[in-house]
Amino acid sequence: MSTKAIFGSYVLSHAEGVQSVLRDHWVLIEGTRIAAVTPSRPQADEIHDQPGRFILPGLMNLHNHAFSEQLARTHTEDGNGRKANKSIVYTVLLPLSRRGIEILSPAERMAIARLGVLQLLKGGATTVMEPFRAGIPEMFDAAAEMGIRFHGAPYVFSTSNAQAGADGIVRYAGDDGAADLAIWKSLHAKWHGHSAGRIQLAMSPHATDTCGPDLLRECAAIARDLGVPITTHVAQGPEEVATIAARYAGRTPAEYLDWLGLMAPDLLAAHCIASTDADLRLMAARGATVLNCPRVFARSGNPAAFARFADHGVRTAIGTDGYNLDLLGEMNAASMISKITTGRADAAPAPDLIDAVTRNAAAAIARPDLGTIAPGATADLTVVNLSDPMLQPLYDPRRGLIALANRANIDIVMVDGAILVANGRYARGDEAAISRAGAAAIQRIWDLPEARAAFAG
Ligand SMILES: [Zn+2]
Repeated sequence: MSTKAIFGSYVLSHAEGVQSVLRDHWVLIEGTRIAAVTPSRPQADEIHDQPGRFILPGLMNLHNHAFSEQLARTHTEDGNGRKANKSIVYTVLLPLSRRGIEILSPAERMAIARLGVLQLLKGGATTVMEPFRAGIPEMFDAAAEMGIRFHGAPYVFSTSNAQAGADGIVRYAGDDGAADLAIWKSLHAKWHGHSAGRIQLAMSPHATDTCGPDLLRECAAIARDLGVPITTHVAQGPEEVATIAARYAGRTPAEYLDWLGLMAPDLLAAHCIASTDADLRLMAARGATVLNCPRVFARSGNPAAFARFADHGVRTAIGTDGYNLDLLGEMNAASMISKITTGRADAAPAPDLIDAVTRNAAAAIARPDLGTIAPGATADLTVVNLSDPMLQPLYDPRRGLIALANRANIDIVMVDGAILVANGRYARGDEAAISRAGAAAIQRIWDLPEARAAFAG
């Protein structure tokens, strides 16, 4: 069994449940497991000995869309593509993703998937939960090839073509997700447990306003039978809240899910920005998790404050939502937006944000072997180089990580004991070639007349 040892000037640790930082310790990895955390230099086949490194449990990015959001990148900032400052999810992202999947070859879809995984890894993530259109199954192939820990969440819809009217309301007839569920089951049969368990599936009904009661109940039953988590979009905006209230006797999106039995510890609910305080109390009582993605909402002028969810006692994880896959940058945004919206400098402190993407994220997907650096834990690590001039002088590594660091400081990314990023560069392939191929495939979608029209303003 191969062994590796990494020296950390700082190593994130938990003693009796309290997060702390060890100074000048080695982390010894044997095969896919952490064997020891020790102050003395161990024997190992491979030694990484360099001062200034902060060794963290592998950071977990539990909400991302590598495909659909790349379509929007640098097209939709500054309000472009938006009607009356409304969300672009139903007007731009979903329809263009659907068309894009139709026109691209499997090789082109694979190129986009590879670019997404490359960005996730360089952004510091060892684990991603990725909801996506089932028409790009190449996400699984790219994750398997590139080594990231991947919780694929192929969408299930009650309608195959969710679109919103000018009022932002989603309308569809029927409540039939049978075809999507059949695809989900076939992907589960093919991929769940693949790559020594690195590849898993999550059940992923798309959102409360695109999935009817019968479908949601069936999704929950299948997920619980198979023992996989459930992830969905919840309370993404006022239009969704109005839609659910009109359809289901005044319920909020959170109450709708609770009514159907989905509001439970196995639910990971993305966004929840239009949730009421009572909704958040309900989510906390049920043990559900909020997936907070502050930057995509900041982009359109909406605060999605980590502190609001955490202060209600809801387990809160952080994801990049496919926009800017720099997870450290997203944590900085979570900090800053929380401080602005609460008017308090002590909102969303660094240790809480670090727990959100490590220990709490691992708990949300019921993986106690992840999110911690301890003997016996799975060897997923994110190592940040704090010796960078931008981070000096440094007194507190956790505050430095949140307030000053970003993706440029990611040094090593390790999954299952394998080094995927070394010295900040992808270790298993040519970054430039992956970037060129992915961008060229996205350009084919941008060249579609409907894309030009959508982005025209
Ligand atoms: Zn999302």
